[in-house]
Amino acid sequence: MHKIFDTINQVNTRIEKAARAAGRNPKEITLLAVSKRQTEDAIKQAYQAGLRDFGENYVQEALAKIERLPLEGICWHFIGPIQSNKTKSIAEHFAWVHSVDRLKIAQRLNNQRHDKLPPLNICLQVNIDDEASKSGFAADEVSEIAQQVVQLPRLRLRGLMAIPQRALNAQQSTDAFKRMHGLLHSLKKQPALTTLDTLSMGMSGDMESAIAEGANIVRVGTALFGARSDTTASNNN
Ligand SMILES: *Cc1c(COP(=O)(O)O)cnc(C)c1O
Repeated sequence: MHKIFDTINQVNTRIEKAARAAGRNPKEITLLAVSKRQTEDAIKQAYQAGLRDFGENYVQEALAKIERLPLEGICWHFIGPIQSNKTKSIAEHFAWVHSVDRLKIAQRLNNQRHDKLPPLNICLQVNIDDEASKSGFAADEVSEIAQQVVQLPRLRLRGLMAIPQRALNAQQSTDAFKRMHGLLHSLKKQPALTTLDTLSMGMSGDMESAIAEGANIVRVGTALFGARSDTTASNNN
């Protein structure tokens, strides 16, 4: 309990400093606790220490946690790779999906989102460094995809997400975050997309430069929970 309390304070301090340095209000930035491969106990402690937003990468692992942690006000974000046979579970159990990387996935999530639930919040994942191994839309196709996704009634398109290349240096990740900022800015000029409000970027190692470039959701795992143990993992998506 004390340990997570301390690390949350440390991360919040980093967020506040980075926001102030950029002339931004720290309250604009949501700390998304990435709880993949962390125990339910760790999540419960983080919740008790005040966190409400949790990010998961593996559907089966996440569903078990969601079922066992029906905590008031807790908000689950899906941030991992999406197989199309898993969209129904994701549409039924999450409030946000950050990792939409194909139009077909967005369409399935839309069709499978229950009428009784509020629209599912969506970020389009952008392959901002054009990495062959990474999923996400190319920067130059995002506008066209966004035009289509914004029309899906059971989804609420919020913005863009990126996982920049493991940077060779700080300037390179700053450049990637800057390109993301520019991309969101240009999308917002289109009449159907003016309400986009989210840049999901920045992790334990680079949240400061992401915040400097306009991130409003930072996805932080190890800086909060420590190293992930593979023994608690269910890697079978
Ligand atoms: C694991 C993960 C994170 C958290 O990374 P840390 O370096 O542990 O903070 C953030 N985003 C995504 C998409 C992840 O898969």
